[in-house]
Amino acid sequence: MLGAIEAGGTKFVCAVGDAEGVLVDRIQIPTTVPNETIPKVIDFFKQYEINAVGIGSFGPIDVNKESLTYGNITSTPKPGWRDYPLVNTIKNVFSIPVGFNTDVNAAALGEATFGAARGMVSCLYITIGTGIGAGAIVQGQLLQGLSHPEMGHILVRRYQDDHYNGKCPYHHDCLEGLAAGPAIEERWGDKGLNLVDKDEVWDLEGYYIAQALMQYMLILSPKKIILGGGVMNQKQVFTSIYKYLPELINGYISLPELSDYIVSPGLGDNAGIIGALLLANQAFQEENRNEMTSGE
Ligand code: ADP
Ligand code: ZN
Repeated sequence: MLGAIEAGGTKFVCAVGDAEGVLVDRIQIPTTVPNETIPKVIDFFKQYEINAVGIGSFGPIDVNKESLTYGNITSTPKPGWRDYPLVNTIKNVFSIPVGFNTDVNAAALGEATFGAARGMVSCLYITIGTGIGAGAIVQGQLLQGLSHPEMGHILVRRYQDDHYNGKCPYHHDCLEGLAAGPAIEERWGDKGLNLVDKDEVWDLEGYYIAQALMQYMLILSPKKIILGGGVMNQKQVFTSIYKYLPELINGYISLPELSDYIVSPGLGDNAGIIGALLLANQAFQEENRNEMTSGE
């Protein structure tokens, strides 16, 4: 039995299941402050005999295993969570292997294993929600370097008539600042859900996302692009992306059939939690391998 945590800015989803992605039980816990949220997470897992836990977390997080602060949430503005040692807290209670990565990397892993990119050695999972983030699988591995990628904060060209300032506290009009859910709400004065009939909202949204996708494609050349998150419930955004992306690429590289290439998550809302289950499995396998080699 494996444990999985999808640690989000608004809620923690916790689940237990197996390496085949079958969930046996799950709960949702509101993300308030660590002293409130984490004991509930621990109580949930204490009901089960789990062999490992996988965590897909909001970030930025420290994913560098050599680092002293590995497993911490780092520079979040969320009260109480800055520098919070998520991995060590769970490890200290359960003494089992803990897998740790970003929420979007977990979702990319879930989608590449059981979802829309099943069996593919490369894919890109992007969430357009409260923030924008992406996780990439390249040659069968989650992409990681100095740290994890932060693809939501790339710069895009402004639409000429868009005078909205942008909402990113670091860069103002980066992609997230112009196109995440809160930016839509502030620019148009209403929540996305109440703007469904305003075509210009979703056309502009696709305009910005298409630019980002072009850059991701040119750099990573993923075999599948999966777009999740609350905003992507507006299917008109896909239509807008399918319109703008070929205009931007302008024949330079040949594009596959876009409706088959840029898609919704095959696992729906479960991409992240199933991916976290897979992170648990990876951590478990890794620990076993280490034990075998150290026992030789
Ligand atoms: P989070 O990113 O916090 O995990 P979501 O992916 O649901 O959560 O994203 C929340 C953002 O998406 C909010 O800004 C919300 O207004 C927007 N959103 C959620 N559902 C919809 C929808 N059906 N249509 C348009 N926007 C939505
Ligand atoms: Zn930014």
